[in-house]
Amino acid sequence: MILEVSPYKAFINISIGCDKSCTFCIVPKTRGDEISIPADLIIQEAKRAVDKGAKEIFLLGQNVNNYGRRFSGDNEKINFSELLRRLSKIEKLHRIRFTSPHPFHMDDEFIEEFAKTLKYVNQCICHSKVEVQKYSKL
Ligand code: SF4
Repeated sequence: MILEVSPYKAFINISIGCDKSCTFCIVPKTRGDEISIPADLIIQEAKRAVDKGAKEIFLLGQNVNNYGRRFSGDNEKINFSELLRRLSKIEKLHRIRFTSPHPFHMDDEFIEEFAKTLKYVNQCICHSKVEVQKYSKL
């Protein structure tokens, strides 16, 4: 679930698979239905990475901002904004990146959370047109 590519950055999967069926995309067939990883596991992994020296975590998912769509078992059901809120409280964690967010799942709660917490950085706006992506500074 966690991939450490440098002592300062940790990649953490928060969801797997995709329920959409965009033309020519093989992901739904190869990775199956979208499922979210329980929040307590994600937070545990993030804390572990920070304890080992990570300054930044990178949240991964095909539709990362659709976090909370489906969980297995009786895991607590929270959405992406709430997950970000909880992660942002981790001391010594300076930056939270994520990809790929889907425009369809942008809502007011997410936009407000993103605007008020300086720790968040969106790596790219995938699933969008190139005209949108060219304004990304990252
Ligand atoms: S949302 Fe992304 S991963 Fe899902 S089918 Fe479309 S392009 Fe593929």
